[in-house]
Amino acid sequence: MERVASKVPIPTILLRGLRRRCPRCGEGPLFRQWIHAHARCPVCDLQYQRNYGDIWMWVIITDRLPIALGIILIYFGFRSTNWSLGAGFFLLLLIPLLATMRERQGLAIALDYLWRIYLPDPSDDIHREPYVLNRNNP
Ligand SMILES: [Zn+2]
Repeated sequence: MERVASKVPIPTILLRGLRRRCPRCGEGPLFRQWIHAHARCPVCDLQYQRNYGDIWMWVIITDRLPIALGIILIYFGFRSTNWSLGAGFFLLLLIPLLATMRERQGLAIALDYLWRIYLPDPSDDIHREPYVLNRNNP
């Protein structure tokens, strides 16, 4: 298990998020139910979100990825000529948006974790090593 996350390559951290695993250790699950994240990693005790809403910026950005598919289709000439084609177009956008919700949420948590590593806040417990031992000792 990795204790110093900055030594883990960035693509590995992002893949851990996409796999819905803890971005630091890669072992602990991110979610306890559908998209309800654990407060902390059950394996390495990483706090996934320091404050409610910390990952919103990343969620908004990753939500735009499936929507970009629709924009690309319209850009390359897709036009709805009847209501069923229009409904199919919105289903085409809605299905990947819903089907990848957990993966995008995990990616958002991983991106927030990278943000916390590379733009450090001194009050963040993540920068104290070893994290688990120092968490209870201010
Ligand atoms: Zn972990």
